[in-house]
This record gives sequence, structure tokens and C-alpha cells, in this order.
Amino acid sequence: MGVIIVTLFANAVETIQIGVEDLLRNDERRVLSAVRNVHAGVLLLCKEKLRRLSPDDEILLAQRFEPQPNDKGEVSIEAVGRNTIGVDDIKKRFKAFGVSLDWKRFDAMADIRNHMEHSYYKGSRERARQAVADALLIIRQMLVEALQEDPRATLGSKCWTALLENADLFEAELKTCRAMLENIDWETEAAARALSDFACPSCRSALIRQRDPANTMQQRAVLICSACGEEAELGPVLSQAFDETFGGETHIAVKDGGEPPISTCPECSEETFVIEEGRCAACDFALPEDAACAVCGSGLSAEEYYEHNALCSYHAHTASKDD
Ligand SMILES: [Zn+2]
Ligand SMILES: [Zn+2]
Ligand SMILES: [Zn+2]
Repeated sequence: MGVIIVTLFANAVETIQIGVEDLLRNDERRVLSAVRNVHAGVLLLCKEKLRRLSPDDEILLAQRFEPQPNDKGEVSIEAVGRNTIGVDDIKKRFKAFGVSLDWKRFDAMADIRNHMEHSYYKGSRERARQAVADALLIIRQMLVEALQEDPRATLGSKCWTALLENADLFEAELKTCRAMLENIDWETEAAARALSDFACPSCRSALIRQRDPANTMQQRAVLICSACGEEAELGPVLSQAFDETFGGETHIAVKDGGEPPISTCPECSEETFVIEEGRCAACDFALPEDAACAVCGSGLSAEEYYEHNALCSYHAHTASKDD
């Protein structure tokens, strides 16, 4: 019997192919396996890039390495331990070596995988579709840009076509869902702006829509997830979406000591109060434009207006001491 040496690259390709075959099978039990394999295959492609970047060994695949004296009395860098690199270190090394990858999409795929590992619900094929659609873009970026391999030739026509078709199916479904949400006259611009970040709070699928496609009123909208079939409350959906949409701005505001774009709504307690628009995107709480402290006349935050009976924090504090 001959020894079969499976290269890292061949292993990556095969793992992706097995994942895609799992997805194509009309068997709900294979759905998780599809996502696991595609995710694992993508990670192996990343490792293949690091292997190719390594000088003449596979040093960049090691989790740890240290300088060691060698026979020639010089210093060489040696791998320490047998652990191979994890995602966080791959990210760091890609950055250090100037390999670009859509990590946001990678994380979204990984997130679906983790979520699927820990929950069971019907319709998970839709979740697998989304994860594999994310994977397609990462696989294409890795093969074409980072590894300079032709995707169709590498993965085989059947696998590559299936990946493209899956992404088309997912995109079509997503478009239908998005159109239903766009039909709603959102009461805040912030909500309208965050639509592309809407996701199901139960399964995190992006396939969230409204039950009645013809409805245009925000207050009448009943949100439902096409992937798991659960209904979703607007508050948690918006709060989660705002975190994505306004996360960057919030981060900058906090760093510069400025005001973040979104704060906690005093009425519904969700992170959905849009400061610029002076109202909550999820419930009907709004801050009157002339909201001012009854004693000093300074402008009030939503919380002050709601909690302190129209006094600023300072005068609310003084008033409570007088009692
Ligand atoms: Zn769901
Ligand atoms: Zn509210
Ligand atoms: Zn005051």
C-alpha cells in the first residue's frame, strides 16, 4: 500500500466539496455538517495561504514560535509546541502580511455555525444557505486574490456551480424579505437606514420580513423570520441592528468624549433612542423639541425628561435633597 500524502490545499478543497455535497443532499440531518465542513474548508484555505507565505517550512502555521540558536551559531525562529494557529492569530498574521479578507463576512459565517451547533429548530437549511453564501465570497477572495487559483478549476465545476446557485437562491430570498421591510414607512430615518442589518433575534438569520407584505405602518408591522419561523419583537431587532449600523459612530463618539448616536429609550428600555431625531425608533416615546429644565432652562436628555419630571440631572438632584 502506498502512502497517500494529502496536502493542506487538497484537504481544504475536499472539505469544501464535502460540505457542498452535504448541502445539496435533500436531508435535514446533513445541514449542520454542510456548514461545519464549509467553515472548516475556508479555515484550511487561510492556513494554506500562511503555509505558502512561510519561508521554507510551515512556521506561520504554528501558534507560537520563538528565536532559538541553531547549528551555525545563528538565530533561527522555531515553532514551539504542536498547536496550530487559531482564527484570531490568522487574522493578525493576515494583517501583518497584507493579506486582505472580508473578516466581517467570515465572522458572520462562523457565527451561524456556532449558533447552529447549539440550537435545533426547523428551517435550518435557510441558515445553512446564508452561511454557505457568505462562504462563497470568502472562498472566491481566498482562491482568486490570496492563492491565485481558479475557483472552478480548483473546486470542480459541480461544486463551484452549486456554490454560485446557493448564493443566488439566498440573495433572491433576502431581496424578497428586504422589499417587504422597505414597504414600511419607518418612523425614524435611523430604522430605515439600519434595514440591511436586521436579523432574527432567535436564529440570527438575515431573512426577516413582515407577516403582511402589504402593510405600510410601523406600529402594525409583525416581524417574522423566514428561516426559523419565529415572530420577532421590533425592539430587540432594532437594538441589534443599530449596534451594527451605528457601532462605528458610537465607538468614535465614546473615544472622543462626544455623544453617541443611539441611547437607551427610557420608555421601552431598548437601545433604540435616536438622539438626533429625538425619538425612539421602536416605541412611540419622543422627546419634545423644547424639552428644557423647568429651573435653569437647559436642554434635557431623553432620560432626564422621562425620569426627573422635566428637570436636568443637577436640579433633580437638588430638588430631591430639599424634600
Ligand atoms: Zn429566525
Ligand atoms: Zn422606546
Ligand atoms: Zn436645571
